[in-house]
Formats: sequence, structure tokens, C-alpha cells
Amino acid sequence: MCKKSITLNSLEMLKGHVIGRAPTLFTGSGTSTVIPFNDVSKLVLVANLNIAPYLEYDEKMKLLIVQGSCSWHEANSFTRSKGRSVRSYPTEELATVLAGIATSATGERSFGNGTLRDDVEQIEYLGFDGKIHRLSSEKLLIDHPIFADNKRGKELLKVYQKRFENFLQLKNGPVPRLVKETDLMVGSEGQLGVITKVWLKTSKWEDSLHLFIRLNRWEESFEQHLEVVKSVNVFRDKIVACEFLDSNSLGFLPENERPAISRDIIILEIKSDCFDDIYDNVISKLKSVSENDVFEISSSRAHQIRMAVPRYVQEHNQKHGAFKSGTDVQVDIGHFEKLLHHYQKFAKAGITYLLFGHIGDRHLHFNFLNSNEQQLLCDELFNELYANCLMWNGSPFAEHGIGTLKQKYIKPFLEDVHLKMFEYLKENLDPHNQFFPSGIMNIKVNL
Ligand SMILES: Cc1cc2nc3c(=O)[nH]c(=O)nc-3n(C[C@H](O)[C@H](O)[C@H](O)COP(=O)(O)OP(=O)(O)OC[C@H]3O[C@@H](n4cnc5c(N)ncnc54)[C@H](O)[C@@H]3O)c2cc1C
Repeated sequence: MCKKSITLNSLEMLKGHVIGRAPTLFTGSGTSTVIPFNDVSKLVLVANLNIAPYLEYDEKMKLLIVQGSCSWHEANSFTRSKGRSVRSYPTEELATVLAGIATSATGERSFGNGTLRDDVEQIEYLGFDGKIHRLSSEKLLIDHPIFADNKRGKELLKVYQKRFENFLQLKNGPVPRLVKETDLMVGSEGQLGVITKVWLKTSKWEDSLHLFIRLNRWEESFEQHLEVVKSVNVFRDKIVACEFLDSNSLGFLPENERPAISRDIIILEIKSDCFDDIYDNVISKLKSVSENDVFEISSSRAHQIRMAVPRYVQEHNQKHGAFKSGTDVQVDIGHFEKLLHHYQKFAKAGITYLLFGHIGDRHLHFNFLNSNEQQLLCDELFNELYANCLMWNGSPFAEHGIGTLKQKYIKPFLEDVHLKMFEYLKENLDPHNQFFPSGIMNIKVNL
């Protein structure tokens, strides 16, 4: 395999590269946690997309139009200047918007606003033929030419969609969703073409407030956590985000910056207009949580704490030569207690760990910070978790995708229909196998 990295600075350069058919991984900001960017020797040719960002706001349709290598931070600032807001985006705002479509990114605001997939109106992508193609979220995938004109493809898609039904309530399933035409690019991790332009829904910009709720450590008891999660669920129109940082996560912050010592916290982002309503109907009704443990914090401080934890963790890993082995599992409310019990077992493995994430959506990241020697044990524990996740109809990879690093865990989730669909999509949209050839869609070939 080729081990080179290049930069493409314009759409013309990108087109020229694609026509050349070199097997390539096209990247945005390289913040993916499932691709080993620190070791490109494990990848095929890496092409960094560094195309000048272009942002436009369609006043009539209330849509944000994004082209080029634009970060979520830039998209957010631009949209806000129009009195609007991007509805859902990943916590890592340095990540690029077009890559967010490719990874079907979700984020803390998905609690109140749904997923990024729901916000996509149209997508343009560069196909293997060097041409730009447009996809619309208003058209069903079954009517797209690669399926509409092929009986085998149509039948395959129907079975695939039937098998996906269990995951429709989750942010992302173990395999791409494939319902609308735009789903060809949403979550397919750049394996079918290069996304060049997207039209995204926006919402009216609304002020919000942040409440911190201090809780007991989940390792000892998660009764309070469950009560909060159940209470907030019916207020998704008023609460934008419901996030979690456990005591271990907070322990990575400098002591004077910790909002709680030896306690966990849940952070609620509440629309300012709805604050009294939420206080009266959620906070004051919590039986297991004292009002003394609820306090307001500025939005900038809340954001800073959320962003600081992963950065300090990264510093810790660099200093100690540790690896991050993390989960991205989402389950329904009926299985959340079981998931937390499972994580309690992980906590006893004798490996440094932390738990954080999108608790309102029952979607947490359990991260081991392990040594090389502990990797085998982590993998064994994860395999056990994924076996349960399969039984619970949970999603093993609800937002960070599969990349190359998570492929070792996916096999139990893949049935014949999934492998056939991957093959079908690759045959039709990537016949020269040039788009991220070491991705999941070639798992049969790469095995
Ligand atoms: C601290 C931290 C927090 C994070 N939080 C979240 C979160 O809340 N939610 C979440 O979903 N993710 C999160 N992530 C993961 C990551 O930020 C997302 O996966 C993000 O979408 C990656 O964007 P990127 O520009 O860095 O893409 P890259 O890492 O460069 O690439 C990711 C994938 O997208 C493909 N790709 C990139 N650009 C294109 C394109 N133009 N066309 C087609 N394919 C393309 C690549 O081939 C690759 O498969 C987090 C990561 C970190 C480090």
C-alpha cells in the first residue's frame, strides 16, 4: 500500500486527482477517532482537502450552503451572524462540515435538534467519473438510478432496509441507514465519493442557559443519573442538550477548574425562554437530587469544560504513552441500566478510565486509557459489550463511525445482506475501488 500524504487546494485539483483513480482516503481536519492519522503508514494515500471554504445563507429557504474545507466553528459563526443557528454538530468544532456528513456526525445538540442527517436537504459529491452529482433528501433511495433500474439492487435494498428497522430510533446504526437518496453520502465515510457541497437546515438563533447537576459517582450508584435521563426525555423541545462528565473526566481538569470534586455532573443546556418551565417541571421534581446540587454556569464556561476534558486526556496519553480505547454505544431507555451495569464491570478492570457523553440520548463514551499490554484485555471486554449490544438492538458506533480502527468489532453485526449491499454500492459508485479502499465496505476483501 502507498503511504503518502498530499494536499488538494481546489476543486479542479480534486477532480484531476479523482480521474487519476489513485486509491485515496480524502480527509477534512483529521479529527476522526477511528482512523489512525498518527500512523499514516497504515492507510493508503491520504489526500487532505484544503479547499477554500465558501458559506452562503439562502434567506428564502433558511438553508446554510457549505462548500470547501469549512469547519463547524466557521459555519456556526457565519450562521449566527444571520440570526440563525446550525442545528446539530460535533463537539469538536475544528472538524469540517463536509466530513461531518460523511461520518453522519451527531453531537450534544442532537438531544433537542435531532441528527445532522435530518438537517441535510441536498448534497453534491464528486463521483468516480470526475463529475459532480446532486442528491436530494426528498427523494427515496429506491428511486435513485442505481436501484430503480436494477431488479436485484431493488430487492437487496428492500431486505437491507427491513433489517435496519431496529436501528431507526438510534442516531446511527452499525451500518449506513440507506433510506433517502442523500443517505448514499451520509455515514458512508467517504467510500462512495467526495462530498463537495451541502445544503443544511437552520433554526432561529435562541439564547440558552446552562445548568450543572452534581450527582453521586455512577460507579457507586446511578439511580440519580437514570432519574434525570427519564425526566428530561419529554422536554426535548425545551432542552437543547443533556451531557455527562463523570468524576474521572473532571479529574483531568486542573483542580481549580473542576465544577465538582469526586462527583459526576450532568449539564443541561436549556432554551432561556423555557428555563422556568424546566426548573418547575424537571429540577424541582427530582426526588433523588437535592436542589443544592443544581447551579447555573455561563455558556462559555460550560463549553470550555466540555472541550477541555478531551484535550487534557490527550495530553495525559501523550505523557504516559497510553492509548485511548473507547466505546460509542447508544441503546434505548429500556437497556440503559444494563449498559451502565456493564460499564461498572469495565471500571473494575484495573485500567484507567473515564465515562462521558450524550447521556440524554443514552449514548456514552467509556474510554480506557490503556497501555499496549492492556489492549488485549480491553478488546476482550469490548467484544463482550458488543455481543450484548447486538442482543439489545443497540448501536455499537452511534457517532464516530467505524473507520479502520473499529472494524475488528463490527463482524457480529454484519449479515450477508450488508456485505452484498456494500459490494453493490462499491460496484456502482466506486468501480475502481479508489475511495477509502480500507474502509468497512471492503471488509469482505480486506478480511
Ligand atoms: C474531542 C473530539 C470530540 C468529538 N466529538 C464528536 C461528536 O460529538 N460527534 C461526532 O459525530 N464526532 C465527534 N468526534 C469525531 C470527529 O470530530 C467527527 O467524526 C468529524 O466528523 C470528523 O471531521 P474531520 O473534518 O476531522 O474529518 P476527518 O477525520 O478528516 O475524516 C473523517 C472521515 O470523513 C471522510 N471525509 C472527510 N471529508 C470528506 C469529504 N469531503 N467527502 C467524503 N468523505 C469525507 C474521511 O474519508 C474519513 O472517513 C470528535 C472527535 C474529537 C477528537
